[in-house]
Amino acid sequence: MAFRLGVGAGRAVVASALFGGAFWGLASVEGTALAASFDRCVSSLKSQAVKAGVRPEIASRMLDGAKYDEKVIRFSRSQPEYKTPIWDYMAFLVDPKRIEDGKALLKKHGKTLSAVEKRYGVDRHVVLAVWGIESDYGQFRGDFYTPHALANLVCAGGRRAKYFRGELIKTLQIASRGDVPVNSFQGSWAGAFGQTQFMPTTYTRLAVDFDGDGHKDLVNSIPDALASTANFLKDAGWRDNRLWGFEVKVPKGYSGPSGRKKYASMDTWTKRGLRNMDGSKFRSKADTALIRPAGANGPAFLVTRNFKALRSYNASTSYGLAIALLSELVSGGKPIQTPWPTNDPGLSRAQRLELQELLNKAGFNVGEPDGKVGPATRAGIKKAEARHGMPVTGRPGWAIYQKLGGS
Ligand code: CA
Repeated sequence: MAFRLGVGAGRAVVASALFGGAFWGLASVEGTALAASFDRCVSSLKSQAVKAGVRPEIASRMLDGAKYDEKVIRFSRSQPEYKTPIWDYMAFLVDPKRIEDGKALLKKHGKTLSAVEKRYGVDRHVVLAVWGIESDYGQFRGDFYTPHALANLVCAGGRRAKYFRGELIKTLQIASRGDVPVNSFQGSWAGAFGQTQFMPTTYTRLAVDFDGDGHKDLVNSIPDALASTANFLKDAGWRDNRLWGFEVKVPKGYSGPSGRKKYASMDTWTKRGLRNMDGSKFRSKADTALIRPAGANGPAFLVTRNFKALRSYNASTSYGLAIALLSELVSGGKPIQTPWPTNDPGLSRAQRLELQELLNKAGFNVGEPDGKVGPATRAGIKKAEARHGMPVTGRPGWAIYQKLGGS
């Protein structure tokens, strides 16, 4: 969120869950030299933080144990090995479990969500959906201690070092103010943390204390986290008098304008031949843009500038669409009607886990099933595909799942 880093930090959590990652080690001599310069770097960061107003004991508690972390550096340098098709992304992020959990939490936190909606003018289902996608409603917040991850990113040098140093100082300031307890900073390798995975700078700018205890705590307070998400979306341009968008019918062979930045009035889209899915004409008044994230043969959507606000949480159309569709489904809306243009759809989290069990059962040892598709699972899928005479892709799709007995 608010991180234009190629891979957004929030997305990094999602990406590490999606891809796992490839491993490489460091030669030990190189490692020792790195450790020494790392320690010098951390101690300099500590004095910089204190100069920036961080209480010395907080700086010590948060940085003293920092160690060189090969994993942070590896994640920061790796490009995703596989381009994930949008139907895999959607099947994984907007799966039955996340919809069901969302519906239950909508009831459980109904009072808070209603107050948040009233105060910020952001649809409660959208706020809930961001929470669901970012951290699985607070259940998964990332594997890294934020100050240590950021210290590694600073001390590794590189063109983003200055940016990460700013984020680190902000992290320590948040703790120094007493907003978030020192031991609560758990998040992605890139520095986003808490229930809604804010970067520290965004946190400083947009987090709010909604439960009124005097602290902006987006880790331990669900009301603070939900209200801060709404505040972020409002700041990004969300307006409560418009929808995010809706699925539409595009005439066969349509060759007119499309793309998320090409807004036009509903009258214009009507003249271009677009209609609601039931064939009726549009009633909405907001300007919209036509997006077809899987090309001309997949689902099409007209999206308002509210979609742009969703997208600003993490600069990706698939991501924005995952939030939008999850928000529809937790509010009891219909799933998208046009199928994704594939005969090998993606798998839910439960199916991914089951696929790993099936791979193990069939003798393609992929290790303890955890639902995360990493290198071992990819390798197992490739072997299974080869054995069944299928194209070898390593992709966790419906075809290989079914071939191994999934249904
Ligand atoms: Ca609070």
